[in-house]
This record gives sequence, C-alpha cells and structure tokens, in this order.
Amino acid sequence: MAREAARRANERGAGADQGALAGSKSGRYLDAALAPARCAVVRAGDGGGQRIRTRTDAMNLHEYQARALFRAAGMPVPPGEVAATPEEAERIAAKLDGKVVVKAQVHAGGRGKAGGVKLAATPAEARDHASRILGMQIRGLTVRKVLVTPAEEIASEAYAGVLVDRASQRPVMIVSAAGGIDIEEVAHTRPEAIRRLYVDPRYGLLPHQAYWLADTLYSDERLITQATDILSKLYGVFVSSGASLAEINPLIVTPAGQVKAIDAKVTLDDNELFRKPELAKLRDVEAEPEAERRAREAALSYVKLDGNVGCCVNGAGLAMATMDLIKFYGGDPANFLDIGGSSNPDKVVAALEIITSDPHVKVILFNIFGGITRCDDVANGIVEATRRIRLERPMVIRLTGTNEQQAIEILEKAGFSAGRSMDAAVQKAVELAKAG
Ligand code: GDP
Ligand code: MN
Repeated sequence: MAREAARRANERGAGADQGALAGSKSGRYLDAALAPARCAVVRAGDGGGQRIRTRTDAMNLHEYQARALFRAAGMPVPPGEVAATPEEAERIAAKLDGKVVVKAQVHAGGRGKAGGVKLAATPAEARDHASRILGMQIRGLTVRKVLVTPAEEIASEAYAGVLVDRASQRPVMIVSAAGGIDIEEVAHTRPEAIRRLYVDPRYGLLPHQAYWLADTLYSDERLITQATDILSKLYGVFVSSGASLAEINPLIVTPAGQVKAIDAKVTLDDNELFRKPELAKLRDVEAEPEAERRAREAALSYVKLDGNVGCCVNGAGLAMATMDLIKFYGGDPANFLDIGGSSNPDKVVAALEIITSDPHVKVILFNIFGGITRCDDVANGIVEATRRIRLERPMVIRLTGTNEQQAIEILEKAGFSAGRSMDAAVQKAVELAKAG
C-alpha cells in the first residue's frame, strides 16, 4: 500500500503529460523511469501536478517560467508575455503583431483539451479568449494568468522529455515522434513509438547520444541537427535547475523547417531549492491547491489520496504502515500526512484543518507513536483543534509512547477516547468510514 499510495500520489503529481504512464500496463516499461518521484513520498512527501502535492519534493513551474529557463539555455522558444487581465492580453497581442496563442498558466497538463489554449487572429480575439480562459477551472485549479505568444505554424509535433529514474539512478531521456497528444496514450497504443536513453550522470548526455535520439524523431539531417542541439540543452536545463522533470510537448517543426519548443514543463526537486534561491522564488503560491499550501506553511508532509479515512500520523514510516493497515482492513486512506517529530500543538491543529478540508473524509484516525513527539502535546493539539474548528466527523485516536498516560487523561477529560492498539484503532476507523 505504501507503494501504491506513493505511486498514485506521483501519478497525480507528475502532470498529465507523463503521469499516467506509471499506472498503465502497457506503459510498464516506462515505470522504472517514473519510479523516482514515487519513492520520494517515503523520503519527504511527493508532489506536483493535479491537486495532489505536498510541502516537499516537487515544485511545478508554469509554462512561461519553464520557457524562460529553456530560452536562457539557448533553446528555440517563441517569445511571449503573461497577462492577468483580458486587456493586458490584448495589449501583448497587439505588440506581437499577428496571430497569437492564448494559453492558460496552471500546473496541469491537457490544457488544450480543456479549452485553455486558444488561437487568436486579432488582439480583440486574444482579449476575448483571455476573458474566457482567466478564471476557468482546469483539473480543479483556477487559471489566474495567461501566456500570450505568437502562433506558430505546425508541420509536425514530437515529444521530448527527461526525468529522474530512481531504479537505474540515472536521468532518462524520452523522445517520441508522436508528440502533441498525451504521451501516456502513445505508451498505451504504440509503445514502440517511444525511445528512451539512460544517461550516465558522470558524463552527461553525450553528443552522439543526443544525435541518436534526434535521429529517431526526424529523417531530414537539418532537423536532426537542430533537435540534437535542443535535446542537449534540455538535458542541460534539467541538470542545472535541479529538475525531476523537464519536458517539451510538442516539439514542433515549422513549415520553414525550424524545430521549436512551443510547450514547456519543468518540475523542480524541492530538495535542490535551498541552493537555487532564484528558482525557489518562482513558486506560485496562488496556483497551488489550498491544502498543499497550508501543509507547506505548517511544515507538514501531506499527500491527498482518494479514500475516506483521514490519517494524522507522526513519522513517514508509521504513516505508510498506517495506510497499509487501513487497506488490510478493507478501508481506503484519504491522505498521507506526517506531522513530523515535533511536539507542536499548532501542527496538530493545522493537520486537522487540512484533513477536514477534504470533503471525502468520513473519519479521522490519529496514530501517534510518542518518542520525541510527546503524546500529551498531540493530545493538547487535538483538544485545542476541536475548540477552534468544528470537526463534525468521528475521530479515532491511538497514542502510545512518551507521556501516553497523560495524553489519555487529557483526551478523556475533553470527552474523547483513545487507545493504545494500532490494530484496534485502524479497524474502528475503517468501520466508521464504512458506516458513515
Ligand atoms: P497542453 O495541452 O497543456 O499540453 O498545451 P500545449 O501548449 O501543448 O498546447 C496544446 C496544443 O495546442 C498543441 O499540441 C498544439 O496542437 C496546439 N498549439 C499550441 N500552440 C500552438 C501554436 O502556436 N500554433 C498552433 N497551430 N497550434 C498550437
Ligand atoms: Mn503540451
């Protein structure tokens, strides 16, 4: 279950362009390539993409930010500017002078299909598109900004990406001539259309390797030369920015024979950010799901899952074990949540607020193994939290370890019951979730 939870968290986190690959059977050969972020949940909480993200491990950039990184590395990326209002979009379109594309800037793939990418022939049309796209919901995320960029003529669309492969402990380059459309669909229907190359990080992507990949995309030597350069630079951005994913979908060829990146996706590894303050600044707090932001601010590791048993646990290992046991007794965890090793009642309050912000949660399960974390502090946090917020959902509390007796007394005085058995608590929680 730990793996399953982590895998699912990663699928959500990875974004539409590659996330579903991890779950697909026919895409299983790509699983290894997607393993890194999955394991990351165990390490520190994983994140990215659609709604399910956490405090640590992944920070998605907007397309316009990723484009800027690509551009700075010398990759051919069309110009463009970001607008927060239809009028601004109109002004940018007028400046660009010609057909433009208005593109929703949200941390989600598949914007095109969702109506978040629109071609406009005139500035007035760009304004109209912007007014429709701004405020739109794409995969539960509200669009607050649009990118206005010159429309390119497209002769063909390819895919190019690089991500960390934990299994081989290497970055893996992935390319496909079948680009533009969802790459996971290609993995399902035409796995042979995808080529991977594991890169030895000691040497980086060697010129002949970049050439080999480019050669699978194009047959025209002029295109291969351009693509070789782009792939080398893509790898360069991936390494220098400390990314877990850098992706171009689509990589286009124009009718004039120019290869260009017209979409850009970069996910940064949070653990790298401390030494890259200029990248850390790119975090768009507004664009993140509320629960995730709250979790990060409260220094909690949180991964939303699809079940209905809300979990509040101290320690990542115990959190995983708790989810396993919930599964074992026939339930489904609503989240992974590690309140960490501290003894801060405020954290418990924040954790409860975050858990209960998920409407699917039917029951809240506390599982605390007191060591450095003192059970009485957690108990005080629970009591304090129920003073501040109306829970309206049953709570099952299991506490054992440091100061457990005081904790149980505190809770009983406040009208709660708590036990020491993890099995009993999990069973009870699953029962209540089923009944509720
Ligand atoms: P995504 O759907 O979130 O991946 O957004 P993309 O930026 O990849 O855009 C989706 C699709 O819109 C692309 O695959 C293209 O087919 C189309 N598109 C995007 N930009 C342009 C452009 O400049 N010109 C043309 N003709 N089509 C574009
Ligand atoms: Mn795309």
